[in-house]
Amino acid sequence: MIFSELESGLSLESNPIPVFKTDIKASKYLYLIGGVHGDEVEGVYVLKELFAWLKLEHSLKDLPMIVVPILNVDGYRAQTRVNAHQVDLNRNLPTKDWSPTHTQAKYNPGPKALSEPENQFLVKLFDKFKPGLIISFHTWKPILNYNGDCQEVAEYLSQFNKYETAPDIGYPTPGSLGSFAVEKYNSPVLTFECPELKTHRESLKEIWQENEEGLKSFFRTEMIWEKIKER
Ligand SMILES: [Zn+2]
Repeated sequence: MIFSELESGLSLESNPIPVFKTDIKASKYLYLIGGVHGDEVEGVYVLKELFAWLKLEHSLKDLPMIVVPILNVDGYRAQTRVNAHQVDLNRNLPTKDWSPTHTQAKYNPGPKALSEPENQFLVKLFDKFKPGLIISFHTWKPILNYNGDCQEVAEYLSQFNKYETAPDIGYPTPGSLGSFAVEKYNSPVLTFECPELKTHRESLKEIWQENEEGLKSFFRTEMIWEKIKER
């Protein structure tokens, strides 16, 4: 597939947030997002490998698609979960249940919903190119967490990587992308939690390899087209 670079976003520390799009007009787009949490290099790596393959694979039917390789570019540079304001971008989106209270610093939702430039940029993209399915790559324990109507996507990928699938991760996540995109755009979100390198795996390459077949195969399914179809 052929991608062109759109105008980058700008982080708090004025670093560009690159974004790529296929040259197809559609009413809904598939989004692949990495690095919402800057220290989750495993998820960033898997998306990097997947994106490299997508760019070279010309036998695929062109899909309306947007790729944000690293959203929290400042956090990625600093190797922190949070952005340069010490805000957790995955708790800062304007969901109905957004609240300024939090129990741990790493879940700091910010002074108000959508206060952070990285999220403002993401929401602007969503408003311009509506999401039909979002896959957001993270790192935690291997789990495919589906919000909205994408359980079958989680189960399809799980056949390959054997990760657990779950509709929630066991604790509330107000202000998260999983809640926000379902509420505002009726777009399902698959939060793709990769295993942690230091506790679970030998190398980043190993984490990519256990996902390679499933992710590549997914792009040849009808299921992916179903998600971005006008409903
Ligand atoms: Zn994360």
